Amino acid sequence: MTTFQGKSVLVLGGSRGIGAAIVRRFAADGAKVLFTYAGSRGAAEQLAAETGSRAVHTDSADRDAVIARVRDSGPLDVLVVNSGIAIFGDALEQDADAIDRLFQINIQTPYHASVEAARQMPEGGRIIVIGSVNGDRMPVPGMASYAVSKSALQGLARGLARDFGPRGITINIVQPGPIDTDANPENGPMRELMHSFMAIKRHGRPEEVAAMVAWLAGPEAGFVTGAMHTIDGAFGA
Ligand code: NDP
Repeated sequence: MTTFQGKSVLVLGGSRGIGAAIVRRFAADGAKVLFTYAGSRGAAEQLAAETGSRAVHTDSADRDAVIARVRDSGPLDVLVVNSGIAIFGDALEQDADAIDRLFQINIQTPYHASVEAARQMPEGGRIIVIGSVNGDRMPVPGMASYAVSKSALQGLARGLARDFGPRGITINIVQPGPIDTDANPENGPMRELMHSFMAIKRHGRPEEVAAMVAWLAGPEAGFVTGAMHTIDGAFGA
């Protein structure tokens, strides 16, 4: 297991689901972990107490708050941007402000947080953003805004890898398929449809995504940047 002893890690959106698994993994590996939450204060405080990490309120829909949080947390060895939302339904019926808020959380925040983190990040720094296999494949209607947002992260990684590579900082996107969380419970109504697209017919576990994040954040991944890393049971294959 990679050790992150003495490393400073910030996870944006760490209170539940995949983000919480990432917090647990880095904390177990010895890192000093700070994570943000928005709505789930109780879960965040419980996770912080359980793992010895620190939880702070920062809404990923608030650009300036995110930038200030990243700046004031630096210098970071690892930034993970996990916060993300989905809005389902007919594109013709959806509220434009709600869609813009999704773009703020899922696109603008990963961009501005990555840039801000890189200002103070030392050589060997790691930026990892949680995208989605839906950035590559969107097999159902009603999720176009989500697909847009996760595809945008691919350009973010490719472009910022060029900007930060000369300083020894890597940036990568982890693209999960269906993962068993509150947002996508394995026993939910979409289960059979989602599994029909997959070669491994189960939801992934948040810990499996956290393991990929930990590898990308570790010393063995120093030559890996500007790339998408799909973990999806072949949903997108
Ligand atoms: P959950 O809904 O289970 O958890 C979302 C996490 O993000 C929570 O900790 C939540 O914090 C945080 N978050 C959401 N909005 C904000 C906000 N405005 N400000 C700060 N934090 C916020 O989602 P998952 O764990 O399933 O998803 C995590 C990431 O993985 C997302 O980017 C998602 O798109 C991606 N993903 C998930 C897949 C899945 O099948 N589960 C598949 C592919 C990608 P709080 O509750 O405190 O607001």
